[in-house]
Amino acid sequence: MGERIWKVAIVGGGFSGAMLAARLAERDVASVLIDRSGAFGPGLAYSTPTDEHILNVRANRMSAVEGRPDDFVRWLEAHHPDRADPEGFAPRRLYGRYLMERLAQVEAAYPGRIERVTGEAAVIEDTMVRLSDGRIAEADAVVLATGNPAPRTTGADHAGRVLSDPWAAGALDRIGDDDDVIIVGSGLTMVDMVLGLEARGWRGRAVAVSRRGLRPRAHGDAHDAPVKPTPELTGGRLSARLAEARRLATTRGWRSVMEGLRPITADLWCEADDAVRARFLRHLRPWWDVHRHRISPRVASRLDALEGDGRLEIVAGRVGPVDTSAVGLALNWTPRGGRRAPPLASAWLIDCSGPGHDPAADPLFGPLIRSGRARLDAAGLGLDLDAEGRVIGAGGGTDERLSVLGPPARAAFWETVAVPDIRKRIEALVERLAIQPPGVQTMASR
Ligand SMILES: Cc1cc2nc3c(=O)[nH]c(=O)nc-3n(C[C@H](O)[C@H](O)[C@H](O)COP(=O)(O)OP(=O)(O)OC[C@H]3O[C@@H](n4cnc5c(N)ncnc54)[C@H](O)[C@@H]3O)c2cc1C
Repeated sequence: MGERIWKVAIVGGGFSGAMLAARLAERDVASVLIDRSGAFGPGLAYSTPTDEHILNVRANRMSAVEGRPDDFVRWLEAHHPDRADPEGFAPRRLYGRYLMERLAQVEAAYPGRIERVTGEAAVIEDTMVRLSDGRIAEADAVVLATGNPAPRTTGADHAGRVLSDPWAAGALDRIGDDDDVIIVGSGLTMVDMVLGLEARGWRGRAVAVSRRGLRPRAHGDAHDAPVKPTPELTGGRLSARLAEARRLATTRGWRSVMEGLRPITADLWCEADDAVRARFLRHLRPWWDVHRHRISPRVASRLDALEGDGRLEIVAGRVGPVDTSAVGLALNWTPRGGRRAPPLASAWLIDCSGPGHDPAADPLFGPLIRSGRARLDAAGLGLDLDAEGRVIGAGGGTDERLSVLGPPARAAFWETVAVPDIRKRIEALVERLAIQPPGVQTMASR
């Protein structure tokens, strides 16, 4: 009988899954990398062909490899010297190419350690992944790196005028150059949609509605040096921490305060109890998001210009039902503060309200929850995980062989969405997965 080889099944071949597979291969661990799209590396964020869609993190912080901070900048220097400004914001499509090349290079250097599988993972049974077409990927451990679930618009299709998954291929194709649009949400996805429409020659108007009407803030012209977090910022009541953040911001600048918090955010989240987490999510989250997930100064200027020209309006309010009985579409809404306002009329509604947060409804996560192998976290952010990203079951036990990486691990780490944060999680995961159980051979020891 042949020896078993230690192998990790990774569901999702975006940045998280593909870069995990690469690091595992470099550490002599084999993986089967499963992605439904057939593309391995770019994932959702870096598949866009539009040059106007630029990174919202400076190039010198976007290395895919922990410990090699200049990796992406060097790649730009070699392939796109005109875009190789370390402090600049490169097109996301170039970053996608960089990821594909890194994966291909590792595959060439360590042949046979990464098996790519194009298909939809449908069921996780123990450490086996069953695909929707019946194929089976067997492994010794499973990592779920499935990215953010698509947003879900309440209600039905509304005559096809509600674009509930703005990331779907061709989602915006039916929007005419002069059509007006309503956008639900005013965060990074809204920004992407407006820029994407503009790049296609769109001349219409957009009204974006979100609960607080906040737009992502801009990066400064250069990287802001982090402020060392004070004990008052990192401990005690949330309201006192906020007061301290405001105090520091007035003297040192809010961006520097956010930069100082960045490396310790996951630790602060892990330390926080359920009540603190719930309070943070209820009161601070929208403010945290717009200050933490910033856009490039150039993109911010473009949005300012659109707002100045009356082509983009961002309003605060609660979204109600959609009515398509009239020509076009009408969105009922209540402005923040409870005033009454007539419905917003438009040709289209684009749902940019952010990822759907109902893991129980997810075809892959739902059965894990229903079977008791996984459970939801108390804050309702996603699967409950331990401090290493391992799934916690209904009985409170940790599943050594089932881990979550990237945005779906939000419940455990809160900030696990951007490359610098995921890169760190990948290293931690590799350290754990590279320690094989006794009796299992690695590829090199065969
Ligand atoms: C528009 C956008 C722009 C961003 N820009 C930046 C940026 O500039 N800098 C930054 O640091 N971060 C940015 N981010 C954050 C981004 O989330 C991360 O950088 C990173 O791309 C996350 O990668 P991921 O692999 O976890 O998720 P994804 O890229 O979403 O990849 C998940 C993959 O899983 C696959 N998949 C899901 N379910 C299944 C299944 N059941 N079976 C098979 N395959 C499946 C999908 O096909 C997909 O390819 C951006 C995010 C978005 C959405």
